[in-house]
Amino acid sequence: MNRRARRHPSELPRRARVVSVTQLTSTGTYRIRFTVLDDDPFDPLPGQFVAFDLVGHHEYRRSPYCLLGVEGRTFEILVRRVPQGPISQFLVGLRPDDEVGFRGPTGRSMIPRRPGPMVAFATGVGISPCLFLAESLASLPDARLPLRVFWGLRLPDDLCLEEEIARLEARGTLRVTVSLSRPPSDWHGLRGRITETVPPLLSEVADTWFYLVSNGRMVAEMRAALEEIGVDRNRIYCESFFDHRHRPDPDTVAEIVARFPPAARTGLATLSLLTGRGRDLLSRP
Ligand SMILES: Cc1cc2nc3c(=O)[nH]c(=O)nc-3n(C[C@H](O)[C@H](O)[C@H](O)COP(=O)(O)OP(=O)(O)OC[C@H]3O[C@@H](n4cnc5c(N)ncnc54)[C@H](O)[C@@H]3O)c2cc1C
Repeated sequence: MNRRARRHPSELPRRARVVSVTQLTSTGTYRIRFTVLDDDPFDPLPGQFVAFDLVGHHEYRRSPYCLLGVEGRTFEILVRRVPQGPISQFLVGLRPDDEVGFRGPTGRSMIPRRPGPMVAFATGVGISPCLFLAESLASLPDARLPLRVFWGLRLPDDLCLEEEIARLEARGTLRVTVSLSRPPSDWHGLRGRITETVPPLLSEVADTWFYLVSNGRMVAEMRAALEEIGVDRNRIYCESFFDHRHRPDPDTVAEIVARFPPAARTGLATLSLLTGRGRDLLSRP
């Protein structure tokens, strides 16, 4: 169909064209691919994000989105459609050939400054920068592989990106374990929030790089618990996508701390995973 491309008003300096918008889950996760139209450099690092804006009659809104992947001047993001959320609704409503303004890439890199085991706690679309990091690790000769990602979702219907994850796992740069907070009775993977299910699996954590991504409550609680057991705060990368101001309740943090095995709580030097649980990556029932 021949359709005239829409050009969105934007106060942001850079321009990109929409290549595709793909709904990945019935629960509202979308993958959006863009091509950069301007001539400025575009060399993002994993963990960096781009920002999009909405110029309305009454208000101006701008929101960042982490990069899922980059190929030359084409980039992808993963978007959770938030009910009544202006920018996420705008993004998932884009069509191929639409033109948008954006800013970036900007933000901190997730690439560790020194080699060491890497463990990510990611909820929902927080998997996005973890996949970009896993993709980049293949070209780092001294990376300690794989990046171990614990992915917190609500339902089996929230699962997506299975092919990309399988490809990176086959390459040896990634290992993903899903934990469902609302699992069906026949779910054989981890059952519960990642703050509940994952700490018992981590025995020795002192030289590990930790990545906490997405739900601000999870980020704040896990960060406090990791610091409490002696992990250096410079080894904890945090990116909360929403609920940024959540103040962790001390009792909740104490409960998370108590879930770590004693070896982790005494601050020994390397990470190892207890065997037998959480081994299946994208285990579907
Ligand atoms: C550094 C950074 C990187 C981000 N990267 C991503 C990304 O890769 N993908 C992505 O989808 N979002 C990402 N976000 C969130 C994004 O910027 C927007 O805040 C989000 O899309 C909601 O914007 P909105 O205008 O649609 O709704 P808003 O009006 O801003 O939010 C409406 C409500 O939805 C809540 N909310 C926002 N995001 C979620 C979510 N994922 N799940 C449940 N509730 C939510 C908010 O707390 C608020 O209560 C990121 C945020 C930051 C700060």
